[in-house]
Amino acid sequence: MTRRRAVFLDRDGVLVESGLRDGVPIPPPGVEQLRLLPGVIEAVDFFAQAGLVLVVVTNQPDVSRGILDLTELERMHRRLSDLLTLDAIYVCTHDDANGCPCRKPRPGMILQAAADLDLDLNHSVCVGDRWRDIDAAQRAGVHSVHIAWNDHEVLRTPADATFSSLYDAREAVIGLTLTDTRKRFAT
Ligand SMILES: [Mg+2]
Ligand SMILES: [Zn+2]
Repeated sequence: MTRRRAVFLDRDGVLVESGLRDGVPIPPPGVEQLRLLPGVIEAVDFFAQAGLVLVVVTNQPDVSRGILDLTELERMHRRLSDLLTLDAIYVCTHDDANGCPCRKPRPGMILQAAADLDLDLNHSVCVGDRWRDIDAAQRAGVHSVHIAWNDHEVLRTPADATFSSLYDAREAVIGLTLTDTRKRFAT
């Protein structure tokens, strides 16, 4: 069996609109405020037609902080699954102090998805708008694409490519899945 290529999609600022407070993105507070960004349906369909497995990987620490109710988060993700043809959604509800293996920049959600869905990480791509997404991609050994909508965000590791929206990134994402990440280290 051939392992499948995947695109790991961050949720806030990539798939759905994110707020901004003091330069830091904030998630929509509930299902009523959940809005897809322009071109996301088309981009996701494009990935699905290219045969990629679509996996959402999202940090939602407001659950641990007591700001977001778990049932509301589940409602949001049911809505997201209704709007988009997704294969799986992985959520980390912890905060830094919990020291969990899943909170990005740790690669736990990507590695768990790879084990659950038999994914080929060396030909997969992670798309995110925060340094945490790009660092998690690096640690998991997948390609990275930065969605740079927020001028305040400073990356700690350079991304393989940068675009202003998932729609604009769609061709480059497919292109990256055709390259082996291990080639980067070979000379
Ligand atoms: Mg984000
Ligand atoms: Zn976690």
